[in-house]
Amino acid sequence: MRGVVAGAAYRPEGSAAAWDEDGFTLAASAAEALQEARPDLPRPDSVVVAGAFGTPELEDLTRFLGLPAGTVVPREPTLASAVAHAGSVTGTGGLTLVIGVQLRAGGQEGDAALALAIGEGASVSVPTGPPPETLGAEISGWSAGIAGARILSGSGSTAPSVAGASTPDPPLVPGQPVAQGAYVPWARYLEATRAHWSLVAERCPACGTVTFPAGRVCRGCGARDGLVPLRLGRDSGVIAALTTIGPGGQPTEFDPQVDAHGPYGVAIVEFPEGVRATLQVADHAGSPLALGSPVATRLRRTYPMEGRWRYARKVLPRAPGPNSD
Ligand SMILES: [Zn+2]
Repeated sequence: MRGVVAGAAYRPEGSAAAWDEDGFTLAASAAEALQEARPDLPRPDSVVVAGAFGTPELEDLTRFLGLPAGTVVPREPTLASAVAHAGSVTGTGGLTLVIGVQLRAGGQEGDAALALAIGEGASVSVPTGPPPETLGAEISGWSAGIAGARILSGSGSTAPSVAGASTPDPPLVPGQPVAQGAYVPWARYLEATRAHWSLVAERCPACGTVTFPAGRVCRGCGARDGLVPLRLGRDSGVIAALTTIGPGGQPTEFDPQVDAHGPYGVAIVEFPEGVRATLQVADHAGSPLALGSPVATRLRRTYPMEGRWRYARKVLPRAPGPNSD
């Protein structure tokens, strides 16, 4: 029998998603929290999700987790049924990831996400009693009962979101014309997603240069052999430069965002590994960020392109706390 060997909670019920979060970004953040809590766990070989996920979000989650395209990711109505489903998987000896997400339209009170790893070990314990009215309540019940669960309240290790959570999403129009700004073709976007979504760089064994994003070529000496993947400290960057993009200054793919939410910040972030990355500032309204500010990063939605949302990491103020190391 398989059992829960590790758990990580992210956003208990009662917190609200930011305007640029969705099922995929909450699920990815929950999976990251689990990974940080239990870095010894192997990559999952199957995933079961509970909650409202669209097909594009499931595809993006599969990509984020580095699983083969087409990996079956069944959608279960409840977290308990998803755990029961994972517990019924036998014979692989591997790890199944169970992710539950509740995201209400427009980002309202009650959003929640939880990732659980199910592996060989103790028996699976599915909660008994009357089913909770919401997946969020179910997630809170599960996270409270898992020893070692890492519970990230509110916006995790970052300051609370200040962008209007009730502001409607910018329109997503399938087939709309491509942008004239920093247009990145879909195929090239897919090539770089793993590096950009998880902040993966490469260290060159010949000259020591760290190249971000990972691209199989050292920026220092051009070497292509032996480059070693290196995950940047996601929540250990510092603002090295900061600017605000006002209406009219943005690439056209950001037009819906600027129309709905106004100007946004763009920061050059210095990471302790010695590389810099240009990242958008999330929760821009009233942001206290300045040069030298410590920042955390989160995967967020950026802009609609060719009928799908694209995603990138954005920076938020890094608040002091138990999860800010
Ligand atoms: Zn090199």
